[in-house]
Amino acid sequence: MAEANPTGARRTGGPGTTEAFDAVVIGAGVAGMYQVYRLREKGFRVRGIEAGSGVGGTWYWNRYPGARVDSQAYIYQYWFSEELNKAWNWSERFPAQPETEAYLNFVADHCDLRKDFDFNTRVTSARFDESTRRWRIETDTGETLDTKYFITCAGMLSAPLSAAFAGQDSFEGQVFHTARWPKEGVALAGKRVGVVGTGATGIQVIQTIAGQAGHLKVFMRTPQYIIPMRNPKYDDADREAHKAGFQAMRQRVQRTFAGFDYDFPERSFHDMTVQERRAVMEEIWADGSLSFWLASFAEMFVDPAVNEEVSEFVREKMRERIKDPELAAKLIPTTYGFGTHRVPLETRYLEAFLRPDVELVDVREAPIECIVPKGVMTADGTVHELDILILATGFDAGTGALTRIDIRGRGGRSLKDDWNADIRTTMGLMVHGYPNLFTTAAPLAPSAALCNMTTCLQQQVDWITDCILYMESQGHRVIEPTKAFEDSWVAHHDAVADATLVTKTDSWYMGSNVAGKPRRLLSYIGGVGGYRQKCEDVAARHYEGFSLAR
Ligand code: NAP
Repeated sequence: MAEANPTGARRTGGPGTTEAFDAVVIGAGVAGMYQVYRLREKGFRVRGIEAGSGVGGTWYWNRYPGARVDSQAYIYQYWFSEELNKAWNWSERFPAQPETEAYLNFVADHCDLRKDFDFNTRVTSARFDESTRRWRIETDTGETLDTKYFITCAGMLSAPLSAAFAGQDSFEGQVFHTARWPKEGVALAGKRVGVVGTGATGIQVIQTIAGQAGHLKVFMRTPQYIIPMRNPKYDDADREAHKAGFQAMRQRVQRTFAGFDYDFPERSFHDMTVQERRAVMEEIWADGSLSFWLASFAEMFVDPAVNEEVSEFVREKMRERIKDPELAAKLIPTTYGFGTHRVPLETRYLEAFLRPDVELVDVREAPIECIVPKGVMTADGTVHELDILILATGFDAGTGALTRIDIRGRGGRSLKDDWNADIRTTMGLMVHGYPNLFTTAAPLAPSAALCNMTTCLQQQVDWITDCILYMESQGHRVIEPTKAFEDSWVAHHDAVADATLVTKTDSWYMGSNVAGKPRRLLSYIGGVGGYRQKCEDVAARHYEGFSLAR
């Protein structure tokens, strides 16, 4: 697989130099690659900056055992080119990380994207210069990039919470955060391995390494509702059918609730008998995808009684698989409702706990206190001795990728300070006070969580590109959302969010996994189709709600 810039040459001038661009893009993931491509094809001088040594973003960094997509392959793809679609063949419905990373490398090759990126380079700071009305961007390689447009495609789950516990440095074994898994892999055979975290990542790790490690201890604080993944291999006929349906699917995913092919049906939960509802749930459950969450009963997000009926259905399914009542009591959630935070797909995750070499440590009663040289110490004084500690502890989602950079807008205001006080954006696309800064996968848009990411990221990149083209055609130098428009978007976002049960459950969706982070649903939950329409309306009204200046 191709990796670093194949020319080996740095694109920017080297330490101490300043180079001018029309646009600088952070990130060589799904969004960044497409953003660089779109602007380059329109003739802009654009440079991408990527911390990793290759393209792929999420699929470059998250190479932990078992990492796998849970959007179907035929929708987790680029929509801008049917040629790409025709030239690529997926092997299965939910491909593993190496295949997804290979796909993104294939796209980079096909579109000749690497020459427009600086790899192994991090943006450390970015400052809007009010005298030139341009951004000055500094990198950790000592270069300065001077640019009119600054576009962040830094990912919503890219700032790992890797310093999770006091004393980590004292550990005599090895510690890995899942999002920084070594490319060469980690030898687990015969080792005492601990995994902290049972989110979507932890589940994939646990179900994969159970039986590989000598002994596995799972430190679980919050049990998860899960859906068994159905992951058939594709044959040529499947692939042909997907390719034939490309154009129709491209249209469809733009308008559904979560950017998938499936959607909530019109039928009402309350118009059906219990038996009818049960039959519907059985049928969708058997699909083995996120459709049970995002295309069953929309009422589950707002009505506690509906949510409880769906939750109980899932609990029953889980109980059937864990006969041991003590284990079932630990592994089956009861304190929050199904779907009020991210639902993972899994494959024999529960069965991992039935193995003699896998042990569940419930850290609700005795939380992890610190890491000591021999392992993990819990509040009851037990030291769980380990050789390897895997942190599946998640991310500072949505905001972390940008607050870890010193971004300064008008008047020197700091995005970190602003978002530490209150997480606000205008449609997740721009932030008041930060002219000509465009964001993807940022808070308050569906792409911050509730979306098939390729659908939403491409929509945002297209909106940003169209906006830039509009500005250029009108001779504008600066665009910035007005405070009033941002206020109205935040109020709308909150109103939609507060009507749901999602805001009542703690998770990274609400920022509650990071101490001190302001509480707000990170993702817009008004639906992908509706969001797209609102974005299109703003553009059609010549960027109403934004101030533009020549
Ligand atoms: P996560 O959902 O935030 O889960 C982090 C886990 O670490 C939780 O179980 C959390 O427990 C636990 N944890 C954190 N600090 C802890 C502590 N001090 N003590 C004990 N437990 C602690 O992160 P993630 O699993 O990396 O997933 C993040 C998101 O990435 C997912 O929701 C999903 O959107 C995406 N993802 C997608 C895929 C896919 O598409 N296939 C795969 C993996 C991830 P609490 O819940 O109690 O806080």
